Amino acid sequence: MIERLPAQEELLHRLVDVFLAENAKVNLSAHRTKEKVWEGNVMDSLAGIQCLQQFSILNFQFSILDLGTGGGFPLLPLAIMFPQHRFTGLDSVRKKMDAVERIVSSMNLSNVMLLTGRAEELGRNHAHREQYDIVTVRAVAETAILLEYCAPFVKVGGKILLWKSMDIDEEISSASGAEAKLHLQRKSPIIYELGNDWGQRQILIYEKIKATPKEYPRSVGSAKKHPL
Ligand code: SAH
Repeated sequence: MIERLPAQEELLHRLVDVFLAENAKVNLSAHRTKEKVWEGNVMDSLAGIQCLQQFSILNFQFSILDLGTGGGFPLLPLAIMFPQHRFTGLDSVRKKMDAVERIVSSMNLSNVMLLTGRAEELGRNHAHREQYDIVTVRAVAETAILLEYCAPFVKVGGKILLWKSMDIDEEISSASGAEAKLHLQRKSPIIYELGNDWGQRQILIYEKIKATPKEYPRSVGSAKKHPL
């Protein structure tokens, strides 16, 4: 695990305060105490460090997209820990993105950009298609749906990281069709323990082997209605 520098520790705690103030105005998360936001949002987001370290993230400058970022998780804690990488948060709900924008500017996070729109539309846009080394997603949809949302954004050789609970073998196996059609390959997940009552969780890892076929992503709503 990368050590948190005192300045990063301070920024992560400031994030909790700024986030709670925004969460009182705009509904961003069910976690409404410092302790819950620290453990359930900040520490859970930082579990991604273990994956990022596997990809030699310390040696290169990466572009990372957080799809369905909502109130900014795992986007913001990871951006604080990796100031050398470029982070983009994407969500379709403008008022959430406006709240995240206020958090980003009040904390001076200069490595974070925000995009408002649907994954299915932006994944067809040349400015974003196959432009990211890594796509992260937490708590947005089932795996098969997420793979169709994410694959178009990732460069060949890039990775998709899905924050998930344990015991989802059925969800993973029902995503095997999507995995094949989208030219993805599943790697060993990272399993981590959040402590207290939060229990064990995992981050699923998929590598993109070949370019995404042109027909994906399908039109808005199709992935959700008819998962591959
Ligand atoms: N990742 C955050 C938020 C999860 S809530 C966290 O873990 O706290 C799921 C978010 O995904 C919502 O904000 C919703 O607007 C967004 N979302 C769902 N489907 C989407 C799509 N097709 N394109 C863009 N955003 C989407």
